[in-house]
Amino acid sequence: MKNRVILLILDGLGYSYARQLMGNLEGWVEAGEARVWQGHAVLPSVSGPCYASIHTGLTPQDHGVTSNYHEGKLEDADIFSAVRAAGGTTAAIAHSFFSDYFQASPFDPMRDMEVDDIHRPIQHARFYTMAGANKAQPATPSDIDLFWQMSLLIERHQPDYFLFHSCTLDSLGHNYGFDSIQIDKNCYTIDAALGDFIPRWQAQGYDVIITADHGQSARGHHGGTEAIMRDIPIYYFANPNHVIQGPPPDYVISQTAIAPSILQRMGIAIPESMQTTPVWI
Ligand SMILES: [Zn+2]
Repeated sequence: MKNRVILLILDGLGYSYARQLMGNLEGWVEAGEARVWQGHAVLPSVSGPCYASIHTGLTPQDHGVTSNYHEGKLEDADIFSAVRAAGGTTAAIAHSFFSDYFQASPFDPMRDMEVDDIHRPIQHARFYTMAGANKAQPATPSDIDLFWQMSLLIERHQPDYFLFHSCTLDSLGHNYGFDSIQIDKNCYTIDAALGDFIPRWQAQGYDVIITADHGQSARGHHGGTEAIMRDIPIYYFANPNHVIQGPPPDYVISQTAIAPSILQRMGIAIPESMQTTPVWI
């Protein structure tokens, strides 16, 4: 494995909100220690379809996840299967949709909630379902607890690819609108925590990529073609021992480029189904 990669998906964090609110991430970009690009989400700009596109490099029209009502493991190659095929180790802390699409379907809490099994596609996994979420109780786990949980799994297993997904911003946005003090404050919470965790993960030997599945409107909606729903941030924090070569700052990265780009960065063969040209070396 050439490089180990952590991919963080901050659900619902659109490009403009990220650039305005994530002061630590932006500080590193301004200091020249990290890169940021605008990404372009697939359509529909909905969680499940975007999760599947980020990992397969295919559009929803090709991978078949066209809404959050989809259930069933995907047949196409994805980042986890490509890393496993190359003899690498995989891990995830994420919503149970990721287990359903890439691990086993349907999601069975007693089998799938907590996994440490080298024979499964995602070998070290901790999933959450957000069952019972409502306006008074979003049922999202604490972002900071999840960051620690990831750090512990890294220390124990040194996975080559680690997916982290948090849903707090999307849930708060649906409840209060993205143009709200609740979003401002939760972005601050996550950004402050990342100020500590990114250097920790880099020191543990990782490139850290931070993106979103989709954005969200000021009213608290997404799914369509509006820029505020489709434009997503893609931050890149390279392992300090490795320089990253990427496109120029104004290049817009397609969401379907993320999977092949991560695999290329890791030095892993890109499956034939991933046709978008990779952007990182
Ligand atoms: Zn989402």
